[in-house]
Amino acid sequence: MKRSLFLFSYQLHPQYLKIFHIDKDQDTIYFVDSDDQWTYYRFHKQRIIVHLSSYYHYYHSLKNQGYHVEWMQHASLIQALTSIENLFAYTPTNFYELGWLHQLTSITLLDDPLFFVTPSDWKQLLPVQQSWKLDPIYRQLRIKFNILMDDRLPVGGKFSYDTENRKPATHTPFFVAPLAIITDHFTETIIESVHQRFPDHPGKTDSFAYPVTRDEALEFLKHFIEFRLPTFGDHQDAMIDHQPWMSHSLISSSLNLGLLSPKEVILEAEQAYRQGLVPLASVEGFIRQILGWREYVRGIYLQLGPDYIKENFLNHHEPLPDFYYSGDTDKYCLSTTIHETIDHGYNHHIQRLMVLSNYASLKGISPQALQSWFNEMYIDSFEWIVAPNVIGMGSFADGGKMSTKPYISSGAYIQKMSNYCQSCVYKVALKSGEKACPFNILYWDYLDRHKDALKNNPRMTMMLAVWNKMDSTTKENLKKEAQILIQKHE
Ligand code: SF4
Repeated sequence: MKRSLFLFSYQLHPQYLKIFHIDKDQDTIYFVDSDDQWTYYRFHKQRIIVHLSSYYHYYHSLKNQGYHVEWMQHASLIQALTSIENLFAYTPTNFYELGWLHQLTSITLLDDPLFFVTPSDWKQLLPVQQSWKLDPIYRQLRIKFNILMDDRLPVGGKFSYDTENRKPATHTPFFVAPLAIITDHFTETIIESVHQRFPDHPGKTDSFAYPVTRDEALEFLKHFIEFRLPTFGDHQDAMIDHQPWMSHSLISSSLNLGLLSPKEVILEAEQAYRQGLVPLASVEGFIRQILGWREYVRGIYLQLGPDYIKENFLNHHEPLPDFYYSGDTDKYCLSTTIHETIDHGYNHHIQRLMVLSNYASLKGISPQALQSWFNEMYIDSFEWIVAPNVIGMGSFADGGKMSTKPYISSGAYIQKMSNYCQSCVYKVALKSGEKACPFNILYWDYLDRHKDALKNNPRMTMMLAVWNKMDSTTKENLKKEAQILIQKHE
């Protein structure tokens, strides 16, 4: 019997056809370019380009290999799919897309084969009403899938080398640039059409250079492992001006699109370590991001359900400053980070967490507004990734379901881990006054505003004690200065 398989723009790995046992003579594969998929969030133009170009390249490659393929263009995904008979699709992780597919009267949904952990396994790994932590889950997955293990023991004797991956930016180390990807005619055409179809979406496109085919992604990965992974570990958490990539892999968009599978990426990285080409701390840190963090955030999103994105434990309702879309702010760390977002649709994890989310948390910005911005602005964004990273880790809006404490800091952390403060009009050493770093002023006010909500959190005890010991005049002055910063329209 003839079957129809719909693939989302991020289900491009050969595994999806293999698992389906596609019959080249009988089955048809459907590709849908629908406006609702690109406008559900006001996605960065490069994010739409990487999806559409990869999707289009894959469609053409299958067509050239003799598969029956159909490309459909429509305003709505469901309207495009509604009349297709005997329709199958892989279950999308994003709940809003799952909701779309559930509107169809007849469709068979299959488990996504590219993740290590299945949705039913997450029910065991993240039991309700127990606190969840990445570390024990990561250990279990390392053992279960025999990754970086020797005789059931972690290679080198430890599961994590996280403490060796936090060297600050004390000098500018040499970083090998990512492999240059040359855009072809297809991609150029798509860039033009994205400008015409989505003129109001944020982001520049001149520097677009992400892989859009599996061959490109494999080359990109090979280059990363050979030349850049060896230096990934040390400065993983550092931030350096004019160095948006450093040794970060930039494969997140390829992984999330299915141009690469997590398993093949991990096996390549482990093999490089076994051949003595990459230090253990680098390869373990890299594998932890994929086997650990990437899987874990999917589990959290699946377990907490569609209402997770609405959580707002600390009652933050301030609007997102306009400068998150322009980079026009005198706070150098934010300005330089946001200009990189606009130019490339990319920041590395510490910029996302300790600059952008940190400032939003300290200023009391709505976690939903911040979450929308993250969904919009990143080349690798998906709601299932953004929600735990922003609601859980970045803004503590879930009250600690996935983080043991809020990830907030004064300017001192940014000064330690970056060279941004050297170029800033504010003085990171000043605690109050017009020239004081705004992170410093807002930090104490945050602690005061949330002292009741955080008083039973053992990891906040020390900082709350410091605040409580300050004299009342200092406290009142800091609170007044913070209110001026919070009320300021930016
Ligand atoms: Fe950012 Fe403060 Fe440093 Fe300026 S002084 S770059 S605002 S942390």
